[in-house]
Amino acid sequence: MDQLLTPVALRKLRHALLTWYEEHRRELPWRRDAHPYRVWVSEIMLQQTRVAAVMDHYARFLHRFPTVQALAAAREASVLAAWSGLGYYHRARRMHQAAKVIARERNESFPRTAEEWRELPGVGRYTAAAIASIAFGEAVAVVDGNVERVLERVFGAVEGREAAWQRAESLLDRERPGDFNQAMMELGATVCTPRAPQCPMCPLHDWCMSRGANPARPQPTRKRKQLIYGLARRNGSVLLVQRPADASLMAGMWELPASSDSPHNGKEPAATLRHAITDTDYEVSVFTIASAMFHASTVNGKWFARRQWERLPLTGLARKILRRLPA
Ligand code: SF4
Repeated sequence: MDQLLTPVALRKLRHALLTWYEEHRRELPWRRDAHPYRVWVSEIMLQQTRVAAVMDHYARFLHRFPTVQALAAAREASVLAAWSGLGYYHRARRMHQAAKVIARERNESFPRTAEEWRELPGVGRYTAAAIASIAFGEAVAVVDGNVERVLERVFGAVEGREAAWQRAESLLDRERPGDFNQAMMELGATVCTPRAPQCPMCPLHDWCMSRGANPARPQPTRKRKQLIYGLARRNGSVLLVQRPADASLMAGMWELPASSDSPHNGKEPAATLRHAITDTDYEVSVFTIASAMFHASTVNGKWFARRQWERLPLTGLARKILRRLPA
């Protein structure tokens, strides 16, 4: 790819992108401090989760676990509780395992290179490169969906992900790799967006082959599903059930019990809400059920007062439902 640009053009492109980034980047909490712990937490949270959803959780998580030592010393249930609402809980479990490795086996010293970061649980090629470049200034490029799209639009399609990584490497500003990587991702997230790239505002406009002419990739159609839960209350406590330890999703997390009621049988739900996860929109109904009925039929059920369930590893949906219910 770099043969497509002369050294002078390459220098100009890097300069244009970095200048744009300095002027237009969003003020995000994890950009205030490039401490490896903070960068690592943000990168893990941002995998598969939108920036807006991460903002809130990031501050709360760091308040609860301000250092890698605090995270390593925590119980897994506390880590999952602090993660509640972000989904993809294996990320939290692996980060917890990695924190223990850093605190106990590495004597509290963070890895410095992408190669070392990849040895930790839950850290793949992208995450390792992002942390090493942002927190330690290592000259390694990143490729995520945003970067791949920008590269493809500017320089044309390539075969396979590996070719995209090579392109990103040759484009990288080796003096400021962390800023450059963040600038590429920021450009893809805010200007060169999948559906409506804003080419007149783009710092790469002069070098871009397509200038928005590449058709957007078709978006997957969203599925719609119904979920029905039962709400049993007793003396200010609510009945929750624990998902099996070997469940493929959200293993060990707590949620409301399922209900056999239906929105179609004439009974009024205590609450209804919508919940969206990746490609599925859920319509959720919650029916009040006499506590005695649940008591007998629930195997893994337990009663929790509010101050208790607030610290439990709840599924994101359970937390959303419970917070909406009147006290
Ligand atoms: S000019 Fe348009 S298509 Fe090209 S990189 Fe910029 S925003 Fe994307």
